[in-house]
Amino acid sequence: MTIDDKTEEMLKNLREQGYRVTPQRETVIRIFHEAGDKHLSAEDVFDILKEGSEQISLATTYRTLKMLVKMNILRELDFAETHKHYELVDTDAPPHHHIICLNCNKTIEFEDDLVNELGKRIAEKHGVEIVDMQFQIFANCPHGDDDEKRTHRQ
Ligand SMILES: [Zn+2]
Ligand SMILES: [Zn+2]
Repeated sequence: MTIDDKTEEMLKNLREQGYRVTPQRETVIRIFHEAGDKHLSAEDVFDILKEGSEQISLATTYRTLKMLVKMNILRELDFAETHKHYELVDTDAPPHHHIICLNCNKTIEFEDDLVNELGKRIAEKHGVEIVDMQFQIFANCPHGDDDEKRTHRQ
């Protein structure tokens, strides 16, 4: 399936669920499909929108992202930075998790059955229903040039 097909299918599903798909929501969903497995911040999305000469404020961008999280289209990620990151929810795949390099900000995605089973076990123990599960590892990756090493967190 092409990016356009995937986007169209998602929009169709949303309309069928009775959601209002405004042009802004549609554009933002398209941006995330085009971004592939990148984790975009609100500022990233805003910059892309501006490049496409879209008339949208940063505040509206934030609101649109929050709404798409509520609609279970986007997953909000907290990489312990001042801003959040977002990625598309893949309802067909088990939850994936992230390693965040504190040195170069690279994120590595991983899936691990053991982590997911552990999450399920903990949720059952507490009688709660899982909406999302995010396991984060903050690390320093072995790559990085001398510039990066100077800012390396000890
Ligand atoms: Zn790194
Ligand atoms: Zn991810």
